[in-house]
Amino acid sequence: MSKHIRLKAIALLAVFCMVFSINGGRGQAASLSDIPVSASSEINYLMNKDIINGYSDGTFRPKQAVTRAEAAIMLGKALNLIGWQRTTPFKDVAVNSAASGYIASAVQKGIINGYSDGTFRPAEPITRGQMALLLQRAFQLTEKGEVYFTDIPQSGLQYDAINTIATAGLASGYADGTFQPKDSVTRQDFAVFVARGLNDDFRVAAPAPAPAPAPAPSGDTAVVGEVTVASLNVRSSASNSAPVIGTLGEGAVVSVYSFSGYWVQINYNNQTGYVHKTYLKLKNTNGNPLQNRIIVVDPGHGGLSDKGILDQGTSYGNLKEKDITLDVANRVSAKLKAAGATVVQTRSGDVNRQFLLGDRTQIAYDNKAELFVSIHVNSAGSASADGAETYYDTSKNANGNESKELAQEIQKQLVAFAGMDDRGARDSAFYVVREQNIPSVLVELGFITNSGDYAKLASPEFHDIYAQAVYQGIYNYYNK
Ligand SMILES: [Zn+2]
Repeated sequence: MSKHIRLKAIALLAVFCMVFSINGGRGQAASLSDIPVSASSEINYLMNKDIINGYSDGTFRPKQAVTRAEAAIMLGKALNLIGWQRTTPFKDVAVNSAASGYIASAVQKGIINGYSDGTFRPAEPITRGQMALLLQRAFQLTEKGEVYFTDIPQSGLQYDAINTIATAGLASGYADGTFQPKDSVTRQDFAVFVARGLNDDFRVAAPAPAPAPAPAPSGDTAVVGEVTVASLNVRSSASNSAPVIGTLGEGAVVSVYSFSGYWVQINYNNQTGYVHKTYLKLKNTNGNPLQNRIIVVDPGHGGLSDKGILDQGTSYGNLKEKDITLDVANRVSAKLKAAGATVVQTRSGDVNRQFLLGDRTQIAYDNKAELFVSIHVNSAGSASADGAETYYDTSKNANGNESKELAQEIQKQLVAFAGMDDRGARDSAFYVVREQNIPSVLVELGFITNSGDYAKLASPEFHDIYAQAVYQGIYNYYNK
């Protein structure tokens, strides 16, 4: 027998066994050895309708995974679809396979799509997520309810399908609150789901809605948060996949009860809610506005490049940018710490390993930073170019507007306090201000190539004036 003919024979034999397995096709669960008691009513119901059968050895094999082809056959029979073997749109479904007719009919009815590469993958086990879509379409379920599973994001095609089959009482998920959409489906479970689809009597109550959020903590809070973006989701727990219980608009002010990493516990309509810290401007309700704020101070340059060369920044004579920025940064940090801020400096000396811009923003991210200030020194071909400028980014940074306000406050102080010529607060997509979502600025203290600015940049005493200006700008930003 050639391989091809042998496969054909096996396929025909399989069809024969499925149709005529027990008592000429009208199987009774009672006559099978391994029907689970918990699902016997549903399995019996389907066997009497000839939708599912046992095997010729007298077993039902309840724990065996259902393939996509088997699922198509069972649903096809349940829906009385035409099962005559025929051509399907899928290149991997043979005309003479047992499922071809049901698959073709299900495609016509819009129940089955297959994969984008033109395959149906009939021998693959069907997943619970795929099954949900299949059942939703097969039984034309549209009603959605207040159901949720901890492992299913609250939007998308799959969520809609799982929600509708849960709302209709076809499937209720697992006891631990999950749905496990990637798990395969056992014959026993598939039988139960299809029986419930066909007959309301088998349906179960929809799973309980999301637990009501605990009542909000009461009492004074030391911090309020002002929303800095157009729309901020409030979630029922500290996770991006937790159900959204509401949204806050820009400028809304909420009481903050506690912090957990990037999550902030707030009072939302007298319920406990959680929002992402990045999109709140945190304001202390009493004491120093800098108390407990997490601020990253980044002295520009001073690390090894990707070629292993120490990046000195710009220089003039013996004066190097990396040394000026470090000394000014040290002084800014000292002032912020004295005001009670939690300060993270990206470097405290030369960094003798590869230290790129992404390493600096990563430090901010890892420390759950709330503000980022990078310090630099300018240079130009013309000695007449002078003054300070402060950069922010609105092209990508979600807190571009906050960055701009911070830049304007710092720039104002550099002009007023350090007497720098005003080159303005400027929107430009430098890496460290662009590749972050917290308010981020890059300060250019002055031009090393200009004699007036050079004198200030070369003076340790004047570094303290620069530092005081940057500090005061940050203070004023938080104090607004
Ligand atoms: Zn620089």
